Amino acid sequence: MIDLHSHTDQSDGTFSPAELVAEAKRVGLEALAITDHDTFKGYDLAVPFAKEAGLELICGIELSTKFGGATVHMLAYFPWTPPSAEFCDWLEEILESRRERNRQLIVRLQELGVEITLAEVETKGRTLTARPHFGRVLMEKGYVSSMQEAFDKYLDEAAPGYVQRKEVPVNEAIARVKAAGGITSLAHPIRVAKNDWDTLAEWTEKMASAGMGAIEVFHSDHTIENVGFYGRLAERFGLLVTGGSDFHGANKPNISLGTGHRGNLAVPYSLLENLRNARR
Ligand SMILES: [Zn+2]
Ligand SMILES: [Zn+2]
Repeated sequence: MIDLHSHTDQSDGTFSPAELVAEAKRVGLEALAITDHDTFKGYDLAVPFAKEAGLELICGIELSTKFGGATVHMLAYFPWTPPSAEFCDWLEEILESRRERNRQLIVRLQELGVEITLAEVETKGRTLTARPHFGRVLMEKGYVSSMQEAFDKYLDEAAPGYVQRKEVPVNEAIARVKAAGGITSLAHPIRVAKNDWDTLAEWTEKMASAGMGAIEVFHSDHTIENVGFYGRLAERFGLLVTGGSDFHGANKPNISLGTGHRGNLAVPYSLLENLRNARR
């Protein structure tokens, strides 16, 4: 069993890289990909711990991209060579746009009568400050009683506090990952075009022809029916298959590393072999 989708406390998870490696060993994973949002810091920090534990670690990342008017999360993996320096410079620009979003989010929350400062929120994060860090402060200050409520009331895309951050067009993200020596995979397609399967098929075809290499068929949020459909999409458009839990530690307490939501996940090692063999 492997897990190709996980987050550390360097983005919006709660496990440190060392703790995540220990958890991977505890649950018996053969390989783990760390796919933090917009940063390789968690992966870099995990490398020595994985080596010591004898765990195969894959370098990954999750990018927020724009496709038409929709937000699409794109996973990227670097199973062959480390990402290029140019790609890492580009990530710095993305982190800066996130900082700008955070400054705007504070102003928006203050307009809504919430008395919090950016400094308070930033102490919760490591490499970057994400919405769950805002959620923690909202809980501590008694504005909400749970992370769910923080998102529902203030932080979710449909909530009054939501501030859109700059996102890169999906084609640019795909091209940049390719140029950097990596391979992209459409993350949790269940959140793309919701249950409109025709639209999802159409979009997947466009992303595949733009150079996307894979689709995340297995994910904690996917039903058996979803998995069947996404698997057929992969076949139809010649995409590789990836899968993972999207583990976030205490920020998504119902999801377990490797086994997902109530054991609905068991990603086979062969998918990683297919990924590795994909390089021509
Ligand atoms: Zn995502
Ligand atoms: Zn994720």
